[in-house]
Amino acid sequence: MQTIDTYNFQGKRALIRVDFNVPLNDKFEITDDTRMRAAVPTIKKVLEGGGSVILMSHLGRPKGVDEKYSLKHIRKHLEELLGQPVKFADDCVGEDAKRQAAALQPGEVLLLENLRFHAEEEGKPRGLAEDATDEEKKAAKAAVKESQKQFVADLASLGDAWINDAFGTAHRAHASTALIAAYFPNDKMFGYIMERELNAVDNVMKNPRRPFTAIMGGSKVSTKIDIIMNLMDKVDNLILGGGMTYTFKAALGGHVGKSICETDKFDLALDILRIAKEKGVNLVLSNETLAGDAFSNDANTMICDPMNIPDGWEGLDIGPATREEFARIIENSATILWNGPVGVFEIPKFAEGSRAVAEAIVRATEKGAFSLIGGGDSVAAINQFGLADKVSYVSTGGGALLEYIEGKELPGITAIRG
Ligand code: AMP
Repeated sequence: MQTIDTYNFQGKRALIRVDFNVPLNDKFEITDDTRMRAAVPTIKKVLEGGGSVILMSHLGRPKGVDEKYSLKHIRKHLEELLGQPVKFADDCVGEDAKRQAAALQPGEVLLLENLRFHAEEEGKPRGLAEDATDEEKKAAKAAVKESQKQFVADLASLGDAWINDAFGTAHRAHASTALIAAYFPNDKMFGYIMERELNAVDNVMKNPRRPFTAIMGGSKVSTKIDIIMNLMDKVDNLILGGGMTYTFKAALGGHVGKSICETDKFDLALDILRIAKEKGVNLVLSNETLAGDAFSNDANTMICDPMNIPDGWEGLDIGPATREEFARIIENSATILWNGPVGVFEIPKFAEGSRAVAEAIVRATEKGAFSLIGGGDSVAAINQFGLADKVSYVSTGGGALLEYIEGKELPGITAIRG
């Protein structure tokens, strides 16, 4: 397999699938350029190796050509980040893109317009009438799949090598993230962002040092079930926190007041407890809740047993004894995965549990543990506590990371690894 460090880019045009899906305000100013900054090392590597670069990305969810989602809005900032001019093609395929790509000289950069201006990027039909029949839907899908072939070929014709550096879309089998690979059997590779993400996740999922502890939080067990089941074969300790706690406690016969509780998931919760026992996994649930009488920072609070929460009260965080218990387990771990806050961290009164988890992960990391934080809200939490640079790795992957942890094959990874 080629890698970006071994490949000879001399005189080559590298088509790089980047993730420039950055947030823009209503003046089209970039409000967070993290993803763009992260892509710079991969781009520079190609340029310094004597190649030229063609960047392709999506931005937002346009339904067709839509100025609002044009990548031209980010061109100037890209030029600043790279310290050089960036050419722009206002369609990612077609004659102009072809001409500009062919004319690229070593050291030059061309940015293509939003891939999702074409339905073929995702391969999903657009503009179907609400009352379309199944037949019509099927025909539209077949049509876009057919025209997608030409789109993929047109994109591929722009470059000599393909680099996938967009981990955030690695779980999608789109034209630029996966299908295009067929045109570059010997000239495809991951960029540095992808390499780093994969190393981090593989450190955790493939070769964890033990003890391996996963902390799963968030609101509902139903959305985390695939991850929990896949982790069950790998972890030593599985700490379950957040809103899902109360589904478990209620399933065990507890009284959870007005806590979030999925009454149709009791069997599932009991299954999880049984499977953990069978597999010898130490499944840890909170034994002490910080309950509130309202979902707000003005709520009155009390510490109680999650098996016995009074009516009118809801469990919104873990209590101090559970904070200590979770922290002790985390600190004694050599590999740590954290997905999902253990309380309503957005409300300061109920953020202390998640803060205690984050701080314990930092202490474990200082002692040599490998820690990976990933999946939406735990990333927001670790950032809120200002601790993101004190853990081993904070994934930018979101949905892609979660699917990888669920044990699913990601098309953007398979396209390169085979
Ligand atoms: P998820 O998207 O499933 O990972 O859920 C994340 C959300 O779960 C966050 O917004 C938290 O505020 C919320 N959450 C965590 N603990 C609780 C709880 N005890 N009750 C209600 N929501 C919670």
